[in-house]
Amino acid sequence: LPPAERRPIRELPDELISQIAAGEMVERPASVVRELLDNALDAGARQITVRLASGGVRLISVEDDGLGIPREELTVALRRHATSKIASLSDLETVGTMGFRGEALAAINAIAELSILSRFTGADSAFVLDGGTGELRPVARSVGTTVEVRELFFATPARRKFLKTDATELAHCIEAVRRHALARPEVGFSVWHDGKLIEQWRAAATPEQRLADALSDDFVSQSVSVLREGGPVRVVGRAGIPDAARSRNDHQFFYVNGRFVRDKVLSHAVRSAYEDVLHGQRQPVYVLYLEIDPARVDVNVHPTKIEVRFRDGREVHQAVRHAIEDALAAPRAGDALAPAD
Ligand code: ADP
Ligand code: MG
Repeated sequence: LPPAERRPIRELPDELISQIAAGEMVERPASVVRELLDNALDAGARQITVRLASGGVRLISVEDDGLGIPREELTVALRRHATSKIASLSDLETVGTMGFRGEALAAINAIAELSILSRFTGADSAFVLDGGTGELRPVARSVGTTVEVRELFFATPARRKFLKTDATELAHCIEAVRRHALARPEVGFSVWHDGKLIEQWRAAATPEQRLADALSDDFVSQSVSVLREGGPVRVVGRAGIPDAARSRNDHQFFYVNGRFVRDKVLSHAVRSAYEDVLHGQRQPVYVLYLEIDPARVDVNVHPTKIEVRFRDGREVHQAVRHAIEDALAAPRAGDALAPAD
């Protein structure tokens, strides 16, 4: 613009700030599913039901049996940077919850029609808050929370145009649930689409049971157990035998302190562990859980928290690489028991 047309500096209106923030956080329906599942797990849910319509574009509803939200906090929950999870910088450095930025509900409310229905532990009734009008009224519900999101991107048609077919969006939503389900075997998950139950993973007695349910029996039978502890990085999980490798990288799951992440250091470490046993473009399968002192990893890198930054990348690389190399080199229980012929 020529100088004469320069506009004065102004603070943006709240809603526009939230819409801008939503641009970073909510790419598609699956992003909303991820945020709502994080919230349900942070609230201590044991059973979570996800209901979707039209790939999540028309409706995403996440129902949990967690702690609930007190009536007088429902409105605050929709405000930007409002959170019950941290209160200070030192909390941030040791944060153990999935959320802490207090942005998700505000962002979603800015780009969709949102309502929160919740009954707080110990309260004798539930309330529903309409995120559009701010209206709050009593309803019936057991303890827990249901967040409903309708007509995603109705106010931002440019974003809506980037959406793929309902089937593709649905697949991404299911993948988001699967990632959470692999992180938390003890929690039951079910997914409904257009009125039909399409996935159900019951609370699992063992992590292997959840892997079998949420991935496949083959994933478990064709993988070895990984366990490396004692150092600053604890690595547990399962790594596929070379024969189980796939042409696609769709069975590769990394968790850092319970959070699903994508990270170049981690995937490179796995690659190098498989270097001698896997050739060409074949993709190893694995589900690996890293536990590391929260002070040694920064999760506050991106609003989606899918990226992390390790204080010492080499230390993490070595731990993962050696954990997998050792696991692949160890004789398999099945091999030892197999008859000689
Ligand atoms: P954050 O998760 O980063 O705190 P959100 O915008 O996702 O921010 O949620 C704001 C607050 O609303 C949370 O801190 C929490 O107190 C409350 N909340 C959201 N979803 C739930 C839920 N399913 N159960 C209980 N409380 C919830
Ligand atoms: Mg959250």
